Amino acid sequence: MLAGSVHPDAHLPERTLLLSVDFEDWHQLIRRRVGDPRWERPGPALARQTEATLALLEQLGARATFFVLGMTARAHPQLVRAIAAAGHEIACHGDQHRLVHTQDPEQFRADLRTARQTIQELTGVRPAGYRAPAFSILRAQAQWAHAALADEGFSYDASQCDSLLIAERIQPASALPHPILQGRLWEFPVAVWRLGRLRLPVGGASYWSFTPTPIVLAGLRALGPGGGLYLHPHELDPQPLRPLLDGQVGQGARARGRLRTARRNLARRRAAETLRAIAASYRLMTYGEAHAQLSARVPAGT
Ligand SMILES: [Zn+2]
Repeated sequence: MLAGSVHPDAHLPERTLLLSVDFEDWHQLIRRRVGDPRWERPGPALARQTEATLALLEQLGARATFFVLGMTARAHPQLVRAIAAAGHEIACHGDQHRLVHTQDPEQFRADLRTARQTIQELTGVRPAGYRAPAFSILRAQAQWAHAALADEGFSYDASQCDSLLIAERIQPASALPHPILQGRLWEFPVAVWRLGRLRLPVGGASYWSFTPTPIVLAGLRALGPGGGLYLHPHELDPQPLRPLLDGQVGQGARARGRLRTARRNLARRRAAETLRAIAASYRLMTYGEAHAQLSARVPAGT
C-alpha cells in the first residue's frame, strides 16, 4: 500500500479519540530557553500540575498516554510512578527535549535509549510509543528517525502535526492513524482539520484558547475516529505560570521570559473546559489501546 494512505480495515470505533499528555517541566524548559544557568533545578509546580491533570482525567473517566521526558522523570520519579499507578500509559518524549532536526541519527538514538532506560527503571514498563519534542521529525528526518524508532523496538510514533506553523512538516495522505514502514511502525497524527489549504490543529490544547469549542468539535467530527489530542501538565496548573528565573539572569532574558510566560498563560486558559466538552461527546483512549486494536486488524507487511 502507499505510504500514508489508510488501510481499509484501519478504523477505530466511531467517536473515539486518542488522549495524550506531554509530560515535561515547563519551568525547566523556559529557563533553559532564556539561558538561566540553573535551569535544571526542579520546583514544586510540576507536582501541582500533575495532581490537577490526574484529577481531571479521573473526573472524565479517561485514561491517557503520557509521553514522558526522560530528564523530567529523573527529577520527579514519584510523579511518573503516580501516573503509571493511576492506570495511564507511559510512553516516551525523548530525554533532553532537543529537537530531532537538530540531532544526527546517532544522537537521536542515544537520546531515545537514555529516556527509555529511565522510564523502564521507574515503571518496569518498556514504552511502546514516542513523540518528538515540538513535533520535530520533519521531512528530512522522517526516513532515518522512523527507522530508528522501529529498530529500537517502538511500535508507534505520534510526532506528526500538520500545522501551518511547522515548516517542512510531513504531510501524510491520511490525517488519521496509519501504518508506515510496511507496518513496522504506526503513525498517530495530532487531530488536524483540513479545510482546503487551511489546517486547524483542533487536537492541541494550546490551540483551544483561540478556537471556539463548537469549531473544535466540528473539526474533530469532520476528521473521523482516531484523531490525537495533546496537552501538557502546565496547561492545567491552577496557579498562573511563573518561570522563577535565577538572580543571575539578565534583564533581556527576563523580558523574553515574561513575554513567553504571558503567551503561555493566555494559550492555556481554556484547556480544561475544552477537554471536558470533548469528553462529553467522545470516548477517549490511550494510544497503546488504539495501536493494539489497529495492528490486530492490519498485520505488518500490508
Ligand atoms: Zn514537549
